[in-house]
Amino acid sequence: MEGGGHHMSGGGEWICTNCKIICVQRDGAWVHPEPWATLKARWICANPQPMREATVGESKRGSMQSLKRDRWIIERQLQRLVVPEGTPIQVGVVGWYQHDDVAAAEWRRRHPGTREDGLAQVSHPRGWGYLASDGHYGLGATTTQRRYDGAGELAAELRALFWACRKLLPRWPTTVLTDYPEIHDLVEAWRRGDTERVPEGYNTEDRESGREAKLLRLARAVHQHRDLVTVKVLDDYADTPLGAGANKLSNLGWRWCANRIRKTEAKESGLATAARYLGVDPVLVPVEGE
Ligand SMILES: [Zn+2]
Repeated sequence: MEGGGHHMSGGGEWICTNCKIICVQRDGAWVHPEPWATLKARWICANPQPMREATVGESKRGSMQSLKRDRWIIERQLQRLVVPEGTPIQVGVVGWYQHDDVAAAEWRRRHPGTREDGLAQVSHPRGWGYLASDGHYGLGATTTQRRYDGAGELAAELRALFWACRKLLPRWPTTVLTDYPEIHDLVEAWRRGDTERVPEGYNTEDRESGREAKLLRLARAVHQHRDLVTVKVLDDYADTPLGAGANKLSNLGWRWCANRIRKTEAKESGLATAARYLGVDPVLVPVEGE
């Protein structure tokens, strides 16, 4: 839940609107205090503007965490397919958007005889998945209170694109496989420098937390690495193992988010799916701390 539910630090430390680094009030003026003012290896603005009070974690870190991870997300890599950085790879990205009928039925059971307006409170999971030829794969989901008709799947697929690019760029030149011509057109626009381009209905304003909309970050990243990313439009994602596997992963993300399966099963099935579609043993690249 963005914005709400944070524990505030209460120490008079605020997040700066301009640079998202801690700022405090000194003698009536807002300043970026030490050690953040000089220690940070990142841009700090000259005229701090308080946006909101910092959380305890932010006070410790000295800044807002600029990227919010999805609540449901699993990303790993299969050992057998690791290639050196710079080796061209392909990645299938797929979104899974489906109304949660079970959650809707549960809502009706708990609110008998009331108007259906409240159904808007039932969240709509959007699953996403990606599967890359170098063994990287990801699955996850987000929820939205808005019911999309038509565009929901595209929104989910763009989420898959976001996390795939986040993982792969700029280390591997990447060809994205999709059956959405809209994704091809968007990425081409971003490559050309039209980084404000988003699908109709997408909200580009900063989130309540002050974070930038994910697609705008993606647009900038694609433009910055425009020589490293291309999109290939397929008639049907199922035509390639990468697309078909990504589709299965996106369904796992949806089912996990919609409480049909638990995280353990999402992890195990995700690994089995990636290994099966890539045709290798289900052996993961070890992650530090595991
Ligand atoms: Zn600032």
